[in-house]
Amino acid sequence: MKVALFSTKPYDRKFFKQANQESPHELTFLEPRLTPLTAPLAKGYDAACLFVNDQADAETLEVLADSGVKVLALRCAGFNNVDLNAAERLGLTVVRVPAYSPHAVAEHTVGLMLTLNRQIHRGYNRVREGNFALDGLLGFDLHEKVVGIIGTGIIGAVVAKILSGFGCHLLAYDVRENPDCVELGVNYTSLDEIYAKSDVITLHCPLTPQTHHLINADAIAEMKPGVMLINTSRGGIVETPAVIDGLKTSRVGSLGIDVYEEEGDLFFEDLSNFVIRDDVFARLLTFPNVLVTGHQAFFTEEALQQIAGTTLGNLQDLADGRECPNEVSAAKLSGG
Ligand code: NAD
Repeated sequence: MKVALFSTKPYDRKFFKQANQESPHELTFLEPRLTPLTAPLAKGYDAACLFVNDQADAETLEVLADSGVKVLALRCAGFNNVDLNAAERLGLTVVRVPAYSPHAVAEHTVGLMLTLNRQIHRGYNRVREGNFALDGLLGFDLHEKVVGIIGTGIIGAVVAKILSGFGCHLLAYDVRENPDCVELGVNYTSLDEIYAKSDVITLHCPLTPQTHHLINADAIAEMKPGVMLINTSRGGIVETPAVIDGLKTSRVGSLGIDVYEEEGDLFFEDLSNFVIRDDVFARLLTFPNVLVTGHQAFFTEEALQQIAGTTLGNLQDLADGRECPNEVSAAKLSGG
């Protein structure tokens, strides 16, 4: 297939070129993010390959379809940025990489917890400045603490396994129970109980209309004072101004995020020579107990190899007329 890859970085090129040695796809690496304005770049291509912040709304998909594109190959797991109904209407097949390295995201999640709790980010800076004082760096043992996991799919289950090694008590909420988590001793319960009892809450559900702003002012009001909140899933699950209010009153004790609702205008770019215009994001950066990483939880060698391999495999399935197990469609999601 002739494939136009949007939003590519040097690391995408490296891993896709390596994986493409064994398959005959013609790859064109484009730097721009997919928007209605950049979509015509895919004219004459069979497939457009997208990442998390590419815009695949109805308007953009119409331009892609008019340009002759037949396949949208997502090189990520989440597909909240794709209008699946519009894709179906326009005859675009959508494929994704449902699982690459759940360990990459789960390990980063636990890294955020440990860094925030033991204030390693602050300790690192202090020592480099010759400040060896410990005031303000007090943490807590994770051992015996209650961690609430919202969403126990592939990534949430790995987080549960790692945290069970720390001796945490694990509560979970999901629309369906994961037998691996039940076997591990995770207790499934209501969101209310998770909010009331958890010392740490970590989000691993997808962004859907049901989970949009799940963590809002009402949810935060139910949480244990001083709760640590971690989000490595999708920014839109958290209503950021409500969390900022929670941080200001200390109801939220600390916040670790790898994703942010408006990250499309910020993440994956070097903006160090520019002014940040997003006041909500800028406010987050002022808190000593907030740790932000720029959507890097997936970013390991193993994950990038699998992303490239699975994406090219998906395209090969479609090129050969085989059914692709990684296809997503509005009909499939609605059970149709
Ligand atoms: P998954 O589909 O295996 O698991 C998601 C789980 O959420 C499922 O068990 C599902 O039943 C549950 N769920 C669905 N709706 C829910 C609801 N309303 N309330 C509670 N639970 C609900 O997905 P995964 O591979 O574990 O990934 C989880 C999320 O992590 C993805 O949706 C993606 O947005 C995010 N992600 C982030 C990165 C990163 O780099 N930060 C990388 C990969 C994935």
